[in-house]
Amino acid sequence: MLNLPTYDDVIAASRRIDGHAHCTPVMTSRIINEELGAEVFFKCENLQRMGAFKYRGAFNALSKFDERQRKAGVVAFSSGNHAQAIALSAALLGIPATIIMPNDAPAAKIAATRGYGGKVVIYDRYTEDREQIGRDLAEKHGFTLIPPYDHPDVIAGQGTAAKELFEEVGELDVLFVSLGGGGLLAGSALSTRALSPACTLYGVEPEAGNDGQQSFRSGKIVHIDTPKTIADGAQTQHLGNYTFEIIRRDVNDVLTASDAQLKDCMRFFASRMKLVVEPTGCLGLAAAQSMKEQLRNKRVGVIISGGNVDLDRFSALLQE
Ligand SMILES: *Cc1c(COP(=O)(O)O)cnc(C)c1O
Repeated sequence: MLNLPTYDDVIAASRRIDGHAHCTPVMTSRIINEELGAEVFFKCENLQRMGAFKYRGAFNALSKFDERQRKAGVVAFSSGNHAQAIALSAALLGIPATIIMPNDAPAAKIAATRGYGGKVVIYDRYTEDREQIGRDLAEKHGFTLIPPYDHPDVIAGQGTAAKELFEEVGELDVLFVSLGGGGLLAGSALSTRALSPACTLYGVEPEAGNDGQQSFRSGKIVHIDTPKTIADGAQTQHLGNYTFEIIRRDVNDVLTASDAQLKDCMRFFASRMKLVVEPTGCLGLAAAQSMKEQLRNKRVGVIISGGNVDLDRFSALLQE
């Protein structure tokens, strides 16, 4: 039996990150409210430190390290926002960080991770096993491995975004959350069931990689090949053991959005709300727009999960 995190752990996490993470703004848009005939609240984690909610879970997990763990350091493998979140949190807490990244990771992401003070170890995606490299380093140097989503402290940290949303706007009828490995969705579920128990909670993942939907609907974790989608923050191959248990207990359904829908949403956020949102951050709005009928006259929350997309790619996607 897994020892699942609870809403009390989310409360503890929110105390730990207080003063270190931003309480991000909640924004509204008259255009969207009119389009959906609903009242929509956007929780803007694209404006979080380092540009995504992942800072919450990383900072919470590293804050719980004991003296030995702090001295030895942390190791993580990621090509994306988790890498930067761990590197930044570790730098702020004075913990050495080693990040294992694939040799085809965007140069900007490798540079950003180094910029936060992380030591980057490059591996070959096709010939080497990053988990093995992580385990070897952990064993050799006594590092603690913090995974991107399947960890109670990471889940509890991610849950603080929805906690802040409900505390600011009150109960909601529906909440849309982007879904990769499920850390954000599972954490949001803990806060939702505590603060707005009747709220319908949806996870939203890329259409090309609907392992979460298959898992939710079949009752067991489904593994898929790395999906081809512009939503690079949700290119996970499967849910985690912790995240799946919470999701199947507390989430109402898992929906999908196409890359074309995500591009439309990026354009909308940029032109109408002056927000830079990465493709994965658009999943929630895309799903909301495709279920207009059900949302009429409802109070709807959407978590914009992140805004890290380099500007060349951003403008190329807007023009497609
Ligand atoms: C990691 C990430 C997600 C998915 O989060 P999970 O906890 O893996 O489900 C969604 N959006 C952005 C911007 C991310 O970085």
